[in-house]
Amino acid sequence: MRFTFVTLFPELVSGYFSGSILGRAIEEHKLSIDYQNPRDFTTDKHNKVDAPMIGGGAGMLMTPQPLVDTLKHIQSDSPNTHIIFLTPVAKQFTQNDAKRLAKKEHVVLVSGRYEGIDERVIEHYADEVFSIGDYILTGGELASMVLCDAISRNVDGVLGNSDSLQVESFESPLLEAPSFTKPMIYENNEVVSEFLKGNHSKITDLKKGLALCKTKYFRPDLYKKGIADEK
Ligand code: SAM
Repeated sequence: MRFTFVTLFPELVSGYFSGSILGRAIEEHKLSIDYQNPRDFTTDKHNKVDAPMIGGGAGMLMTPQPLVDTLKHIQSDSPNTHIIFLTPVAKQFTQNDAKRLAKKEHVVLVSGRYEGIDERVIEHYADEVFSIGDYILTGGELASMVLCDAISRNVDGVLGNSDSLQVESFESPLLEAPSFTKPMIYENNEVVSEFLKGNHSKITDLKKGLALCKTKYFRPDLYKKGIADEK
């Protein structure tokens, strides 16, 4: 699967994908990541990519021309692009979106800067728009990286053990149960004793109970939905 980051600051993004699981997936050609900088496409003689807002308002907006030319360039050598703009003015990205988008051939992630992007570009070029939460970032790069990471984990072969995808939070209405590793006792705190006894059906029941408690406490919205879905 291919990702293209459209960003004025590719150097903010590239380091993240050079190591660990995703770095390995890139080396093994399961993923590819490239970058396009709208500044390389501007026809402005001073290399500008932003301008004041029409109608007033504080701050600058990214102008259409550099971004549109960047997107046309990407589309010209890739027939199956799926273009996503990152913006707070959108539905929040979820695990279901990550799984759905992992089946796309080429996802293009467009990061805004300044006070955002001229709306006409979004209207004409977005296949989808996503927010990553109810807060304002200085730019879309972090949000693009969040999507790329979450989508990539669901691409076939990227995770060494794909079983781990099945039991994670958000795969069911419940958050994941607490997990433990060695040592059995750490600073006088023991691992939940039932986990040590090897009775797998008891461990499964216990984990479900703990997952219910965690979900009810941290995410009452998911808990209520899970109860409603079971009825
Ligand atoms: N003026 C915009 C507003 O109030 O909706 C905020 C612009 S923000 C300072 C600049 C860029 O950061 C946006 O164009 C977007 O790409 C990105 N951004 C900021 N917060 C975001 C969020 N919660 N989710 C996704 N992208 C975000």
